[in-house]
Amino acid sequence: MSEAAASVPSLADLTTLRLGGPAGELVEVTSEEEAVNAVRTGKPVLVLAGGSNVVIADEGFPGTVVLLRQRGIHVREEGGTVRLTVQAGQPWDEVAAVAVANGWAGIESLSGIPGSAGATPIQNVGAYGQEVAETITAVRAYDRVSDEIVTLPRDACGFAYRTSVFKHNERFVVLSVTFELAVSPLSTPIRYAELARTLGVQAGESAPLADVRETVLKLRAGKGMVLDPSDRDTFSVGSFFTNPVVAADAVEPVRRAAGEPPAWPAPDGMVKLSAAWLIERAGFGKGYGDPASGVALSGKHTLALTNRGTGTTAALLGLAREIQHGVKDRFGVQLHPEPVLVNCSL
Ligand SMILES: Cc1cc2nc3c(=O)[nH]c(=O)nc-3n(C[C@H](O)[C@H](O)[C@H](O)COP(=O)(O)OP(=O)(O)OC[C@H]3O[C@@H](n4cnc5c(N)ncnc54)[C@H](O)[C@@H]3O)c2cc1C
Repeated sequence: MSEAAASVPSLADLTTLRLGGPAGELVEVTSEEEAVNAVRTGKPVLVLAGGSNVVIADEGFPGTVVLLRQRGIHVREEGGTVRLTVQAGQPWDEVAAVAVANGWAGIESLSGIPGSAGATPIQNVGAYGQEVAETITAVRAYDRVSDEIVTLPRDACGFAYRTSVFKHNERFVVLSVTFELAVSPLSTPIRYAELARTLGVQAGESAPLADVRETVLKLRAGKGMVLDPSDRDTFSVGSFFTNPVVAADAVEPVRRAAGEPPAWPAPDGMVKLSAAWLIERAGFGKGYGDPASGVALSGKHTLALTNRGTGTTAALLGLAREIQHGVKDRFGVQLHPEPVLVNCSL
C-alpha cells in the first residue's frame, strides 16, 4: 500500500473528465487485503478505479481516496463454459480482449468500455446489446457494515438498467467479479440493430468474436466512446444521462412536440426513450456549449458532456443543468445523471 498524496495534487489526473480538486489523502492498493484494510478505517473513503464514471467537485474530496490497482484474471474451464474471476482493479477492456482472443463469448460487445472490471457490476455496464448482468455469476465484496468479505450471487446484486445494489451505496467494496462465458468462436446473438447492420448479419444472428470486437471498437471510436488522449471528445464519462424510463402516457407529449421518438419497452409497462434524441430535439446539438466555459457537448455524440481542456466541474454541472431543464421544458421528461457525483450535485 503506498501513500501518494504529495505526488498527486489533484483528482483531475485520475478521472477521464480531467476534473476534480485535491484528495485529502490518496492510497493506492494492489491486493485484496490492502483494499480491505484501506477502507476499514472508519474514515470517509472514496473508492476509485478508472475514474471514468465519476464527476468530482472542484473542491475535491477531503477524505481518503482508495485507488484500486489490484489485477489478475483466474480462469476455470468446465465443459462448454469458462469462469473468469477478475480482480477489481483489472482494466475492463483487457478482460474483453482476453475473452475474445481465447474464444469465450458473452462480453465481446462490451469491448472498449473504459474503467475497471470491479466497477462493471456497479452500474451493470452495458453497450451494443449486452450487459454484465447476463454473465456475472458472483461478486466478491467487502461489506463495510458487517466488516466481512461476502460473496453475492447474481440474484443478490439487484441488477437493472444501469444500476445495482452497489450503485450509490457505500456498503460494498467490490474485490473481484466472476463471469461465466460460453466457449465458442461465435458471439452471443447480436441484438443491437446498428451493430448487426455494420457486421452484415441479421439481428439475432451471431458473428465471429474478433469481428464483433473490432466492429464495436470502430463504432465506439466514431462516437468518441473509446478513450483517446488526443481527442477532447473523449474527455467525458461516456453518457452523462441515462435513457429515461417513463410511463407510456408520457410519450404522447414527446410525439406531439417532435415526432415519433425512438422507444423501447421497459419492465412494468414503462417505455425507455433515447436521451440523445431528446437532447438533440430540445436544441442541444453536437458541440453545444459556450467556448469560454471550457465544457461542451462532444462533437461526436450529444450524450457526452466533455471538458475541452479548460473546464471546471462547476461549468460541467452548469451545462448538465441547462440540458436537463431544456429537455424537461420541451418534453416534460426528467433526465437523470449516469455518473456518480462526488461532493457535488446537479
Ligand atoms: C468514453 C467513455 C465511454 C463509456 N461507455 C460506457 C458504456 O458503453 N457503457 C457503460 O455502462 N458505461 C460506459 N462508460 C462509463 C464507465 O466507463 C463505466 O461505468 C465503468 O464501469 C466505470 O469504471 P471505473 O473503474 O472507471 O469506475 P470509477 O469511475 O473509478 O468509479 C465509478 C463509481 O463506482 C465506484 N467503484 C468503482 N470501483 C468500485 C469497486 N471495486 N467497489 C465499489 N465501488 C466501486 C466508485 O466509488 C464510483 O462511485 C463510459 C465512460 C467513458 C469515459
